[in-house]
Amino acid sequence: MTRTHRIAVLPGDGIGKETVPESLKVLDAAARRFGFDLTLTHYDWSCETYRQTGRMMPADGLDQLAQSDSILLGAVGWPGVADHVSLWGLLIPIRRGFDQYANVRPCKLMPGVRTPLADRTEADIDFYVVRENTEGEYSAVGGRMFEGTDREFVTQQSVFTRQGTDRILKYAFNLAMTRPKKHVTSATKSNGIIHTMPYWDERFAAMAQQYPDVRTDQYHIDILCAHFVQHPDWFDVVVGSNLFGDILSDLGPAVAGSIGIAPSANINPERRFPSMFEPVHGSAPDIAGKFICNPIGQIWSAALMLEHLGEAEAGRTIVAAIETLLRESGPKTRDMGGQAGTADVGTAIAELVAAR
Ligand code: ATP
Ligand code: MG
Repeated sequence: MTRTHRIAVLPGDGIGKETVPESLKVLDAAARRFGFDLTLTHYDWSCETYRQTGRMMPADGLDQLAQSDSILLGAVGWPGVADHVSLWGLLIPIRRGFDQYANVRPCKLMPGVRTPLADRTEADIDFYVVRENTEGEYSAVGGRMFEGTDREFVTQQSVFTRQGTDRILKYAFNLAMTRPKKHVTSATKSNGIIHTMPYWDERFAAMAQQYPDVRTDQYHIDILCAHFVQHPDWFDVVVGSNLFGDILSDLGPAVAGSIGIAPSANINPERRFPSMFEPVHGSAPDIAGKFICNPIGQIWSAALMLEHLGEAEAGRTIVAAIETLLRESGPKTRDMGGQAGTADVGTAIAELVAAR
C-alpha cells in the first residue's frame, strides 16, 4: 500500500505565500521519486484573515489541523497587526496546543554561503540547536507590586518541571545518537541562576548516564555564545532551556550564513499531535510581493518534515539537492548574490530531486 501523509499547508503572510508553493513543487518531486502520496489541505489563515474576521484562525482551527500528520508553515506577521496578536493568535496556540516542546534548528554552513566567521568552511559548522519550547523562563508566574511607588518591584519566575526537563534532554540525546559525532552540549548558568540551572544540570547528568555512547559537556550561556562564534566546530547537538535555546537558535543560524536558508521544526516527538515545520525567517515585508525571496529555508523545512514523517531518504535527497544547487552555480536569489527569482530556485531544486 502506498504511504500517505496528510499535510496542512499554511503559507501565512508576506513571503510565506511565495516560498510555500516552491516547497510544494519540491515535495511533489520527492513524492513521485520515492513513491509516497501527500494529501494537502490548504489554509489561508493570516493577518489578512485577522483584518476580515478579528481572528487569525477560526475557533476550531486546532481541531482542523489535528486531522493532519504535519503542518508546513510559511511566515506569520505583518505590519499593522501587533506581534502579540499574530503570534498568539496562530503560532503559539499551535505550538502549545500540539505540545511541540522541541524546537529544533539545524545550523549547517552550505556550499557557496558566506558565513560571517572568517576562514570557516562547511566542515566546521554543522550542528543542531534544540530549544525547550513550553516552560522554563517563559512562564506567566510573577507580577508587579507597589506599582508607581518607590517601593515598586517586579518578579518573574521560571518553572522547570522534571517531565519538561527530561523530555527535552532525552530528545537531544536521541538526536545525537543519529549523528556521527554523538555529542551533546548543555547550555547552563548555574553560577548565577542558583535554583533552576543546577536542577537542569542534575537532570542532564542523569540523562547522560542512560546514553553511555554519547559524549557530553556543558558551558555557561555567556561563554557558550562566544564559543559559537569562535569554535563552531566544537558542537554537534546543543540543548538549552526556553530562554537559552531562544538565544542560541538565532545565533546558530546566523553563524551558518544567510537567514533565507535556515530551517526549523517544532516537534511533538511522541507524535500524539502534528509537528510544524517553518523557515527561521519571517514574512519579510520589505521584499514581499516581488518574488525575489529565497525559498531554500522553506524547502529545507519541508525536508525536515519528510524526515519526521519517516521519509528520511527523501528528506536527505532534498538537502543534497540544495547543496548541489548552491555548489554548482545554480540559480540564486539576491540575498545570495544572484539574480534569480524565487520560482527559478524552487524549480531547479525540484528538478534535481526528480533526477537524483
Ligand atoms: P519575524 O519577526 O517574523 O521573525 P523579522 O522582522 O525578524 O521577522 P524577517 O522577516 O525574517 O525579519 O526579515 C529580516 C530581513 O531578512 C529582511 O530584510 C528580509 O528581507 C530578509 N529576509 C528574510 N527572509 C528572507 C528570504 N527568504 N530571502 C531573502 N531575504 C530574506
Ligand atoms: Mg525575527
